[in-house]
Amino acid sequence: ESQLNPNYNFENFLEGDSNRLARSAGMAVANKPGGTSFNPLLIFGGVGLGKTHLAHAIGVQIKDKYPAKTVLYISAEKFTQQYIESVKKNNRNDFIHFYQVIDVLIVDDIQLLSGKAGTQDVFFHIFNHLHQNGKQVILTSDKAPVDMQDIEQRLLSRFKWGLSAELQHPSFETRIAIIKQKLYQDGVEMPEEIVEFLANNIKTNVRELEGAIISLIAHSSFNKKEITLDLAKKIVDNYVKHTKREVSIDYIQKIVSDYFQMDVETLQSKTRKRHIVQARQLAMFFAKKLTKASLASIGSQIGQRDHATVLHACKTVDNLASTDKQFRKYVEDLGKKLSV
Ligand code: ADP
Ligand code: MG
Repeated sequence: ESQLNPNYNFENFLEGDSNRLARSAGMAVANKPGGTSFNPLLIFGGVGLGKTHLAHAIGVQIKDKYPAKTVLYISAEKFTQQYIESVKKNNRNDFIHFYQVIDVLIVDDIQLLSGKAGTQDVFFHIFNHLHQNGKQVILTSDKAPVDMQDIEQRLLSRFKWGLSAELQHPSFETRIAIIKQKLYQDGVEMPEEIVEFLANNIKTNVRELEGAIISLIAHSSFNKKEITLDLAKKIVDNYVKHTKREVSIDYIQKIVSDYFQMDVETLQSKTRKRHIVQARQLAMFFAKKLTKASLASIGSQIGQRDHATVLHACKTVDNLASTDKQFRKYVEDLGKKLSV
């Protein structure tokens, strides 16, 4: 029994800047277990960022490609329990032997070995045996080896032998892609503005993002109500209670370009076409109004402009809004869409 979850695979582990290194290294290991310099492969990162998913995906792909190899996924917690049990029952050696004949060992949340000297010791011996025999070890942890506490030095140094790859917070675009995949899997449709709202507000934890989608779907189906932005706002408040909702410059650019039916690249482009220039100026205006970013930072994020351009944009929007009725409507509509 490999304990692998086939629902966690590479196909549904979406790639983004935040996970590219870890994902690619995982793929390399999956295609040649024990045969790369990524041994051990240590995947680290915060809660809900995909460590367990990626660890399973590697195992699943190895099983697929090399059915004869024995792959075992285990959490460090369960490993510890098994070890303690084996000591009680006086079969510590059987325990060690069981692990030493595995081809690919995946241990999830290795930071949980912290402070457990006996388990660390036994893991050290298992690790050495596997490594010497060209077997693959894959570990995950919620922190980088340098930040791990109460783990023996000799073990920490082993962790650093291979590759440590970090899973970072996914970007706005990646969060959108993850939400859409989830909706697709569940056969649910959701208006684009709600997808963007969710992606903009739940940033630091993919599991919470998925949780919000699930509760949104449940609320709407049990109450036979449509999924509205108001409902989404209520649900999101349960996830991000203590942090005030805040819009990002990415989000502003996306909302403004959607509103004018252009893509973000067009909005950022060097063109002097009037309606594009206006859209860009509106994005700068709202970035100034709704974020804490400096003029220089806003400019560099909206098509590599300088701070003077952003300042000019803000003044232009103020002027036009007070003299041009149509333009005032743009400002009002966008203000509503971006309201937090
Ligand atoms: P961790 O182990 O780091 O706490 P998990 O692996 O349990 O996180 O991931 C939390 C949830 O987020 C899972 O349902 C997982 O499928 C999903 N997830 C995380 N990253 C991605 C990604 N890049 N693509 C698709 N789903 C992801
Ligand atoms: Mg996990």
